[in-house]
Amino acid sequence: MHLTHLSCFACDKTYEAANLINLCDCGKPLRVEYDLEAAAKTLQPQTLAGRPSNLWRYREVLPLPADIDPPTLGEGCTPLLPADAVAEQLGLSPGRLFVKDEAVNPTGSFKARGMAVAVAMAAHLGAKKLAVPSAGNAGGALAFYAARCGLEAHIFMPKDVPVANRLECEIAGANVTLVDGLITDCAKIVMDRREAEGWFDMSTLKEPYRVEGKKTMGYELFEDLCGRLPDVILYPTGGGTGLVGMWKAFEEMQAMGWIGAERPRMVSVQASGCAPIARAFAAGATEAGTFENAHTAAAGLRVPRAIADFEMLRILRESGGTAVTVDDVAMMDDARRLSAATGICACPEGGACLTALRKLTASGWIRPEDRIVLFNTGSGMKYAEAFAEFPRR
Ligand SMILES: *Cc1c(COP(=O)(O)O)cnc(C)c1O
Ligand SMILES: [Zn+2]
Repeated sequence: MHLTHLSCFACDKTYEAANLINLCDCGKPLRVEYDLEAAAKTLQPQTLAGRPSNLWRYREVLPLPADIDPPTLGEGCTPLLPADAVAEQLGLSPGRLFVKDEAVNPTGSFKARGMAVAVAMAAHLGAKKLAVPSAGNAGGALAFYAARCGLEAHIFMPKDVPVANRLECEIAGANVTLVDGLITDCAKIVMDRREAEGWFDMSTLKEPYRVEGKKTMGYELFEDLCGRLPDVILYPTGGGTGLVGMWKAFEEMQAMGWIGAERPRMVSVQASGCAPIARAFAAGATEAGTFENAHTAAAGLRVPRAIADFEMLRILRESGGTAVTVDDVAMMDDARRLSAATGICACPEGGACLTALRKLTASGWIRPEDRIVLFNTGSGMKYAEAFAEFPRR
């Protein structure tokens, strides 16, 4: 609510925030800017006590004007759970490994965070019909927040999307189209038809506000860890909204005097069948391009091309982080192990983070004394087909 303007992530153009807008004229994503000096007057770690336990508790650094009631379904403020049994198996110190359990968000994934804020802003700015391509959980999150706000939702999904993801959209009253192709093909349909149909395009990082919802994960980690950040964050990466968002949160927190220049080492976890960011990171490239023949059981990671590739690669390098690829067989095994060892309901993407942690611990990149957060980004309950395809061994 101390929103000032939008700026480009890639060039130096700026825009007013008063209108519905997708990308910068240069084709890159737009970044939401705030008067952080003004925000810092009321938003401090000690002023958060007693605020609502949903992501709107960080109201000063969210874009919706102060006089509008946010259309919340209770998103955010997810538990950060100790995972000592897992730590012990991996030879890590007790009390230093945590799982941020995003499965408990409305619609069963952290896509709720981004859509809560983006749909609220789209409604505020006058949109009536929203459209999105989705390989998994984004469609359902859009469908339910659109329902909450009384807007139309048009969702385009690859025809082999998990049944749960298609069903949740239909249950919430959205229009669902199944496409013979990947999420990139779905995105093209939205792009080609949006003008004629009067749709506002809610694609990952093609509108400015989903990142704002996702960034609240960064603020929450600071609160969850009683005023500090972890040393390492393992994040299953598709479009990269969460990676870009958390990094932005850390910059804002530093500007408001909450933290210094220290940052967690950010680890991008991808499936070996779809690893554009990991491949580009390993090659020392600043852009990722398209990963051909993308396939993985982790629907949220089946994103062969990411528009914010350059920003993710910059973040991984600037944070002293890295990128790791994980086979489907290993990630599905680890989704089960993570669930059995912690009591959370892990999705394949969460399992992938455990496999990555195992690899990085074995190689010595992660040290026993590191304070580590692993993201379980959604509920395993939405992945019946994947668990059936990779039965318990
Ligand atoms: C979308 C999704 C991801 C990837 O998230 P990004 O922030 O877009 O990279 C990871 N896990 C799950 C379960 C998802 O739905
Ligand atoms: Zn630009």
